Amino acid sequence: MIKFRNKIIKLLPKIILVIALLGIPAFAQEPLPKLKQTVYITISRSSTRYHLEGCSTIKNSKVKALTIEDARKFGFTQCGVCKPGE
Ligand SMILES: [Zn+2]
Repeated sequence: MIKFRNKIIKLLPKIILVIALLGIPAFAQEPLPKLKQTVYITISRSSTRYHLEGCSTIKNSKVKALTIEDARKFGFTQCGVCKPGE
């Protein structure tokens, strides 16, 4: 019995690694914080750029907040002025 337990203890780091790689939330690595950054897209203009809050190019526009990850998913690209995510 003790032998069996030792074997499990030896294997434990490997087991945890496999679980982490499978992406089970409790063990999964945190996603890159950069992707969680909040950015803003304009909804009144047909721009496909995402911006940081207070970017001069969206000053007078209606904006919607979302994460960089989502903005990219919807096909938005980084604003060249405020450069979110850098
Ligand atoms: Zn911008």
